[in-house]
Amino acid sequence: MIIMKSDATKQQIARVVKEIKKYGLKADVSRGAYRTVIGLVGDESKVPFDRFAILPGVKEARMIETPYKLISREYAKLSGEESEQRVIKVGDTEIGGNEPVFIAGPCAVESEAQLFKIAEGVKMAGAHILRGGIFKPRTSVHSFQGLGAGGKEEAKEALEWLREAGKSFEMPVVTEIRGEGQVDMVAEYVDIIQIGARNMYDQDLLTKVARKGKPILYKRHFGAGIEEFLSFAEYMVAEENKDIILCERGILPLGKGRSYARYTLDLTAIPVIQKETYLPIIVDPSHAAGRRDLVFSLSCAGIAAGASGLIVEVHHNPVEALVDGQQAITPDELKDIISTCHRVHKAIGPRTS
Ligand code: PEP
Ligand code: MN
Repeated sequence: MIIMKSDATKQQIARVVKEIKKYGLKADVSRGAYRTVIGLVGDESKVPFDRFAILPGVKEARMIETPYKLISREYAKLSGEESEQRVIKVGDTEIGGNEPVFIAGPCAVESEAQLFKIAEGVKMAGAHILRGGIFKPRTSVHSFQGLGAGGKEEAKEALEWLREAGKSFEMPVVTEIRGEGQVDMVAEYVDIIQIGARNMYDQDLLTKVARKGKPILYKRHFGAGIEEFLSFAEYMVAEENKDIILCERGILPLGKGRSYARYTLDLTAIPVIQKETYLPIIVDPSHAAGRRDLVFSLSCAGIAAGASGLIVEVHHNPVEALVDGQQAITPDELKDIISTCHRVHKAIGPRTS
């Protein structure tokens, strides 16, 4: 990292950037209120920081050990910029702002009628953003894989329904992409692109999605440590896309015997991640629980831990849902969760790092 003097000129900054590129690294220039800080993207061990330290306009040049320096609050503080929570604007909705955001909808889009019915229900319940899976990650090849598995035309048709449902009920929409081949098509229809837990480690996919310049809902893998999760999020920010919504969705349960829940919601990750990065973090109580009777408690707990919002699976008729019916709640139950979570949020007050 190169910290420029407060009176460094544009030419001096440009010179430093040029020198960084000579070593095969990219430069991430943060022009803060007080000074400019230049982050190095790539292998810093190749860089002779002592040489950079004596370039004109340079105040300090040093190696940063953290693997996620671009998203770290500490690094952002040095430039006097972005150390505050990043607020991601999607339409009229702000994620990471003063109020919690509720994303809701079916696990999988099953039909136009199903999607519109659920979209109406979640809107009435107070949701801000509509979710709906079209390419479903499934453990078994014999399970319903989402309408996108039917081919390009079927995928486009479902994406159109999603876009239209979002327009009709005035909600931005989010859907998951499972592979690089889906990115271009999906980006044309949705406001937020979701990268699921199973793809958290796919750096080529992260890079490709980030280059679309759209907000990304990025889920933690169920076996990933917090440092790993943030390190991989850095791949997207290195592509100059800082609109990353992190999502804690449960990690693998420990110990032998019945685990009672599908995963273990890692509530500790919420305040830890908020201290480490300015990116907003939300909670997915549905996949963490895997049981609809736990969704209320985990939702309240997530908001109490300081999460910027929730993503919840909702179905008007959960027993008939083609995917994840066991954890789907009804729009009425969502309404109760949203109103309670607003009260929880009010009770704990604004979160700061
Ligand atoms: C989903 O949100 O539909 C999903 C599959 O979640 P996860 O990637 O967290 O399992
Ligand atoms: Mn699901």
